[in-house]
Amino acid sequence: MLIVMEQKATSEQIAGVVAAIENRGYKARPIPGGERTAIGVLHNEGAVDASFFSGLSGVKEVIPVTRPYKQVSREFKPENTLIRIHDVTIGQGNLTMIAGPCAIESEDQAMTIAKHVKRAGAHIFRGGAYKPRTSPYSFQGLGIEGLKILSRVRESTGMPVVTEAMDEESFNHVEEYADLVQIGTRNMQNFSLLRRAGKSKRPILLKRGMAATIEEWLMAAEYILEGGNSQIILCERGVRTFVHHSRNTLDLSSVPFVQNESHLPIIVDPSHATGRRDQVIPLSRAAAAVGAHGLMIEVHHEPDKALSDGAQSLYPEQYEALCLQVQSIRDTFQNESRDVQKS
Ligand code: PEP
Ligand code: MN
Repeated sequence: MLIVMEQKATSEQIAGVVAAIENRGYKARPIPGGERTAIGVLHNEGAVDASFFSGLSGVKEVIPVTRPYKQVSREFKPENTLIRIHDVTIGQGNLTMIAGPCAIESEDQAMTIAKHVKRAGAHIFRGGAYKPRTSPYSFQGLGIEGLKILSRVRESTGMPVVTEAMDEESFNHVEEYADLVQIGTRNMQNFSLLRRAGKSKRPILLKRGMAATIEEWLMAAEYILEGGNSQIILCERGVRTFVHHSRNTLDLSSVPFVQNESHLPIIVDPSHATGRRDQVIPLSRAAAAVGAHGLMIEVHHEPDKALSDGAQSLYPEQYEALCLQVQSIRDTFQNESRDVQKS
């Protein structure tokens, strides 16, 4: 339930409502807005007595929140959440481009790719230091050395960096070095990791589980919000289906659905969704057209020598051409949606 305060409500009236919520054994989560404050009522198991709260001083209205994901829902917070990472803002009408190799393999490799993608127009650099690999015999990432390389990439290019934390221990290291902490598909329902992310001061990039419904995904985000961290970017990366022509099936319908249901930004990763560079290019264009807030794409200057995911990594020239295409799709889309809204 959401209690919306009068525009002129005093801080005493707000405190009074918070106390009334807590006296009933619930948790109060004030959400200051541009116009007025709203207070979320959390931790209620059954229905909350709305008439009691609507009679309190300073209360304008009481709105039931019908979704199981409360703090994630638009009912709870109607305006878009914007994530600011240095001078990059995610969640506006723009298309934020995240690019880099699957894994950080060496300083030379990371710097070379970073320079290419920056020149092409990338805003944020990606690269795994801790790699969740299907086989224990595959390259597992450089760990802390990889994180140090990432921070040198940031220093030298000015791009913020994102990398994955696989467990609570690696989370502590990733949080120290990276600007944005990724939780990967295999960990979307690792609830202790989600709770750890909830305590972090860093924004979190939460990928959709490969077998997760949208409700399960949004509930995973709810864990992070519930822990106190409201800086979350969702990332659609495809789900496992019965097809063989593609590594996963990119569910682009999740983008408008999530944007309707939630105030959190949502980006698309066509690389892990498809596993093949010839599919990454057209599906990136589709993701830009469907209104995603950003694209995360794997790029490698020598994909044939890549230690992981070479087949889905774009050549730098392909990425450069793609950046121009997706930005122009986004510009057209923005102009047209303005026209649609007008009519
Ligand atoms: C990644 O982005 O490096 C990754 C492993 O992706 P996913 O968790 O979506 O498989
Ligand atoms: Mn990869």
